[in-house]
Amino acid sequence: MEQSTVDAMLTWQSTARLERVAEKLRKRGYEVTCCATRDEARAKVLELAEGAQSIGFGGSLSVACLNLTREMRDAGKEILNHGFPNLTAEERDEIRRRQLTCDCFLSSVNALTDDGIIVNVDGVGNRVAAMIYGPRRTVLVIGRNKLVSGDVDAALARIAEIAGPVNAYRLGCKTPCATTGKCANCAGANDGSICRITTVIRQRPAWSDIKILLVNEDLGL
Ligand code: SF4
Repeated sequence: MEQSTVDAMLTWQSTARLERVAEKLRKRGYEVTCCATRDEARAKVLELAEGAQSIGFGGSLSVACLNLTREMRDAGKEILNHGFPNLTAEERDEIRRRQLTCDCFLSSVNALTDDGIIVNVDGVGNRVAAMIYGPRRTVLVIGRNKLVSGDVDAALARIAEIAGPVNAYRLGCKTPCATTGKCANCAGANDGSICRITTVIRQRPAWSDIKILLVNEDLGL
């Protein structure tokens, strides 16, 4: 059997899984779109952000993979991204604060259970705060690699195994995991920890407008 045939079968299976999760998320109050590719997701984000003037980028690699900044900027939108180079700490902080009240906030999540529960671990908290309340609209771009079979504990295990250590490495944190690649559960004992806040979102927060894009590709960490 050709590898392409195997890939097609695996894509069929992940498509079915994403559609099941989409149904669970809709029951939890979200508007959900399943996207076969990142290009489809990109087009959908641009559509959902069309009427927005200020766009907040929460620091997500999944969103960065969609290469949205230039097109949005060319459309006259204000880009609020604290990850831009050459910003002072004060400027980054100000941008994070402005993300909380932007027109459209773009992020991913650290883990999503098959039952539709969103789990995040954060260091500063601006990303998870904006996901709960503040922006006029939030768009979450979630690759199939973020799905976990199981409950909140399974989601936290994924974060400790993958998202935490690799993000700490990416950000140059002075944490044990940024050296070893393995979580040492340093939260509370290390000034550089990026795992200070855990949020579990069981249902679309009241007064929020959250659109979720489930993408049948691996995106981000
Ligand atoms: S708790 Fe500490 S060691 Fe574990 S992933 Fe987070 S930053 Fe790394």
